[in-house]
Amino acid sequence: MASAHKIGSLLFCPECGTLLDQPKDGEDKVTCEQCHHEEPANSYDNIVITTRSHPDAFPSALRQKRKTQTKLHEKGDQGTLVSEKCPACGHMEAFSKEMQLRSADEGSTIFYTCTSCKHGWRVNN
Ligand SMILES: [Zn+2]
Ligand SMILES: [Zn+2]
Repeated sequence: MASAHKIGSLLFCPECGTLLDQPKDGEDKVTCEQCHHEEPANSYDNIVITTRSHPDAFPSALRQKRKTQTKLHEKGDQGTLVSEKCPACGHMEAFSKEMQLRSADEGSTIFYTCTSCKHGWRVNN
């Protein structure tokens, strides 16, 4: 009995060359739509593992990455909580965010946002 041809992740009928379907769960063979050749499902063993693990693993990795980026973004919006006196209301807590707006050797600018009145100001380093 001829064995099926594998090209990449695809399996082709050894009798007529038709692309065979993936075996359904619980089925031990795949029937060719053209010539009704029956290909044992274990011909797919190597293929099924790769095609199944990839689509599952890949999007979840993407999802995780997106989650991390969103988290960093939210943290970046707020800044770091520091003890700094607000010039507007005198409150002693503010979020600080350091930004390199100018060239590296000129230092950076720190932006403060009062946690009480949301007043914003900045200090050049
Ligand atoms: Zn066939
Ligand atoms: Zn304030």
